[in-house]
Parts: sequence; C-alpha cells; structure tokens
Amino acid sequence: MQVSEFQSLIRSRYDATDRARGPSKTFVWFAEEFGELAHAIGKHERGDGDPANLREEFADCLAWMCTLANICDVDLEEAIREKYLTDGGPKGTK
Ligand SMILES: [Mg+2]
Repeated sequence: MQVSEFQSLIRSRYDATDRARGPSKTFVWFAEEFGELAHAIGKHERGDGDPANLREEFADCLAWMCTLANICDVDLEEAIREKYLTDGGPKGTK
C-alpha cells in the first residue's frame, strides 16, 4: 500500500467528521495517540511489551497523521517526496 492510498482510505472513511472537528482539536487526538505509542514503546523497552498493541499504536499515529494532512489539504506522499526523495533528501537531522 502506498502512503497516498492509506491517506485516501482515511479520507474516505472519516473526512466529514475530521473536517467538522478541525485541525486544533484533531491535533489533540493525535497527541493522545502519541502518548499511547510512547507507553507501548516504554513497555517494549522494559521487556513487558505487547507486540500487537505496539503495532496498533504505530498504525493509529499514522492514521491520525493522515487525518491532519487531509484536513490541512496536504498530500503526504508529495510532502515526503519533496522532503526526503528530492536531491538525496535532507542532510543531517530530519
Ligand atoms: Mg491508539
């Protein structure tokens, strides 16, 4: 699956609700998902993680990233191409 396909899937399922919520409130949901991912990574690092839950939290974060991109009218695949694939990508840090 391409990034654009996943972004389109998220748009087709949730766009009306996501646009009604708006970027600021959606960012709060995104931040909450980051917290869930942080918790899952912490458990993984301590050796008591749940691999299925860790995968789920990564997927949730990507889904919310797609949501934010959709309601901000950003094509994520194009953004990734511009930043990371053009001219060998960024030098040094991301
Ligand atoms: Mg989650």
